[in-house]
Amino acid sequence: MLEKVLIANRGEIALRILRACKAMGIQTVAVYSKADADLMHVRLADEAICIGPPGAAQSYLHAPAIISAAEVSNADAIHPGYGFLAENADFAEQVEQSGFIFIGPRSETIRLMGDKVSAKDAMKAANVPTVPGSDGPLPDDPEEMIEIGRQVGYPVIIKAAAGGGGRGMRVVHNEAALVNSVQITKSEAAAAFGSDVVYMEKYLQRPRHVEIQVISDGKGNTIHLGDRDCSLQRRHQKVIEEAPAPEIDPVAREECAAACVKACNEIGYRGAGTFEFLYEDGGFYFIEMNTRVQVEHPVSELITGVDIVREQLRVASDLPLSVTQDQVRFTGHAIECRINAEDPQTFMPSPGRITTFHAPGGPGVRVDSHIYDGYTVPPFYDSLIAKVISYGEDRDQAMARMRQALDELVIEGISTNTQLHRELVRDASFMAGGVSIHYLESKLEDG
Ligand code: ADP
Repeated sequence: MLEKVLIANRGEIALRILRACKAMGIQTVAVYSKADADLMHVRLADEAICIGPPGAAQSYLHAPAIISAAEVSNADAIHPGYGFLAENADFAEQVEQSGFIFIGPRSETIRLMGDKVSAKDAMKAANVPTVPGSDGPLPDDPEEMIEIGRQVGYPVIIKAAAGGGGRGMRVVHNEAALVNSVQITKSEAAAAFGSDVVYMEKYLQRPRHVEIQVISDGKGNTIHLGDRDCSLQRRHQKVIEEAPAPEIDPVAREECAAACVKACNEIGYRGAGTFEFLYEDGGFYFIEMNTRVQVEHPVSELITGVDIVREQLRVASDLPLSVTQDQVRFTGHAIECRINAEDPQTFMPSPGRITTFHAPGGPGVRVDSHIYDGYTVPPFYDSLIAKVISYGEDRDQAMARMRQALDELVIEGISTNTQLHRELVRDASFMAGGVSIHYLESKLEDG
């Protein structure tokens, strides 16, 4: 078993990892920037090391500082959480070359999946269904590009191979706009991701975002923990997630989960991962794989009883998964609302001091959050400050518990999107289940 884990992250996920370590008797090392000395997990960790100034580039993204902290504290392993360096193959490689365990897949796997073009190729080879498109990077020659556009059929979406976080994508509605749009996306991608490789996909009109959680011991034993629906999005960013995805064709669901498990075994996947799909007209179409724990992992934990972070720590300790696929029982329904420190009208980040925080509770309510009375949300990082998660025997009960939980939630001193969530869990279409990825934005436009 691992003895000491360095948590290379901040906020709610750092606290989530710390809790899992403590429950397993593993010592923890928190690393934090100068802006983050007051984080809850920094107080609770066995050791805490300041790794640099507030800017992420000089702290949470600064690999040498993190690896030095692991050396100084004599940690065995580094848990990257999500965001920051979690899907940076070079970092994973440096961690392992420095003699530490990287809690995640092998660096080759991260590299393969980090390039969305090679990820799609790998999935096609493993018989996972993908969104039809350019089958590889788009050529520079305008005529070839136009020919591919005709074959795929409009509208199409141009996506950066190295893109992430909902950035580096552009929808093109007709041939006249194609060449120019590709050029803009290429230069944006070069600036944002350091690579101007782009590819084309058919732009699906009314898909849902449905994803499958997997976990693998790295020795050919993979299980899936079912699916999640993350269709409520704004600017390609998830706002509410739930598990299982409602109203999914049962045969397609089984086949898709089985294909993901098989693909993991074929590529020698290790640890937790998520296959993201668009789901339309009863079919799944792979868009990308995330090689890390995800923000929305708790909804899968609640419907399966499997602690995903604990499984990550077990795999990193070279222990088998604690359950086999046959032992995974899917019961009930779970919903997660992402509470962000943001202006409810403009959606701009709203950092500042929280004067009052009251967390909801009661049966079937879980809150994953690092905030507390008097905590100041710094302006330098992601605006996620809490995840309110509800569980019920069925979707209606989970939804009712979420309505109550959101009504109990009090966060004063800064602006948050709590009111939007209160409205969404009372929205007739969302309550009916199965809205598309465009639903939230069109609702916000109409409102
Ligand atoms: P990122 O890595 O930036 O999250 P993804 O490839 O996962 O990018 O896509 C993010 C979101 O963009 C999806 O959840 C979906 O809402 C939208 N999207 C991506 N590809 C398509 C497509 N081919 N058709 C329609 N929407 C898409």
